[in-house]
Amino acid sequence: MRLNRHHELFRDSVRAVLERVLLPGLHGWESEGRMPTHEICRALGEEGLLGLTLPLDEESGGLGLDLGYSWVWAQELGRLPAGSPAMSLSVQTDIVLPLLAEAGGERVRTEFLRPAVRGELVAALAATEPGGGSDLAALRATAVRTADGIRLTGDKAYITNGSVADFAVVVCHLVEGEGERGATGLDSLALLLVPTGLPGVSRARYTGKLGNRACDHGSLTFTDVRVPEENLLGEPGSGYEALTRVLTRERAFLAAVATARTETALRETVEHARGRAVLGRSLMDHQAIAFKLAELDAELALVEQYTGAVFHLLDEKAPALRQASIAKLRASRLERESADLRLQLHGAGGYMEDGPVERAYRDARAHGLAGGADEALLHLIAGHLRTDI
Ligand SMILES: Cc1cc2nc3c(=O)[nH]c(=O)nc-3n(C[C@H](O)[C@H](O)[C@H](O)COP(=O)(O)OP(=O)(O)OC[C@H]3O[C@@H](n4cnc5c(N)ncnc54)[C@H](O)[C@@H]3O)c2cc1C
Repeated sequence: MRLNRHHELFRDSVRAVLERVLLPGLHGWESEGRMPTHEICRALGEEGLLGLTLPLDEESGGLGLDLGYSWVWAQELGRLPAGSPAMSLSVQTDIVLPLLAEAGGERVRTEFLRPAVRGELVAALAATEPGGGSDLAALRATAVRTADGIRLTGDKAYITNGSVADFAVVVCHLVEGEGERGATGLDSLALLLVPTGLPGVSRARYTGKLGNRACDHGSLTFTDVRVPEENLLGEPGSGYEALTRVLTRERAFLAAVATARTETALRETVEHARGRAVLGRSLMDHQAIAFKLAELDAELALVEQYTGAVFHLLDEKAPALRQASIAKLRASRLERESADLRLQLHGAGGYMEDGPVERAYRDARAHGLAGGADEALLHLIAGHLRTDI
């Protein structure tokens, strides 16, 4: 995707907003292990940043911009000195709200999408379960269609925004009667919007995580929760395709965040390597170090270009699941490598301090799991090799 002058002007204004809304509190939130998600969404919603690529119509309240703006938004979130805001906000702006705009009926768009674009409601996507997240066909949560509406039962785990969200889009199997409970497979998958204040919904918050500590992660339990039929997103039987589109966009977004985080790591490590002397020479003048940084620079250039190409495919509404999975796999591995090298070259100071170096090392680990574990992405890429070549 080629960014133009308008995208770059947008970058400047987003950077200024994020510096004002997020930077002053970020370090403290990471130390406390909690951030004011609703307050942040409200502030960013007022700036129009939560519906950049959503339709301009009255019910959606979006700005109707191209996907280049989403790429810039992801990059700027990725440049922050902690991964939590990108993780939390990506669910809102590039996973759940595009899904509601595409597959939600009029009531869903008026009651949930529009307020969420204004930042008045916080969203979550609940797919993973305590028994596993990689194998979507094996998910256990089931929504039973009965004469008086839909009843949802199931457990969801490790959900970003899970304990603070006002509503969650729950990935479950939809069956026509009690007798069909326990269905598996991809054909019965459905996406059900569930307000978290409904009777039968209970939640718990994870604490003591490795990284992204300020970002909320929660588990959700649904016990015979009654949900109106209109909360089903998309046409009957279209759940898996809709979910695939969501995962494609999520992976492109995470690739862009991871790439921006690698760029920060590289820039900051080079600055440090120029200033730090060992054996009478700067670290940068030791060829072993300079070559490592040069390798990182070369890889970063390729991954960044490729991620841009994935955003272009998305903007053209072309199939991009394989490409987005490749981008996310390579970008998140590079983020991990760069965070490791950054910490190594900062020596014990990087390990000890409560700051961006050790935080980047901890935060980087999440991208190998969230949005599809590395091996799940390799499984998908290998599947294309079996059938498409
Ligand atoms: C920070 C964070 C945020 C998250 N946010 C959300 C969220 O908002 N919503 C949500 O639904 N989930 C979320 N998750 C969960 C995430 O999607 C899952 O962790 C992921 O899908 C893997 O599922 P699992 O952890 O159950 O591992 P499992 O599915 O049990 O897999 C375990 C491991 O097996 C390996 N593996 C997986 N597939 C294959 C394969 N095909 N071949 C060989 N090996 C394989 C991988 O190494 C994997 O890590 C989040 C996770 C993290 C860490």
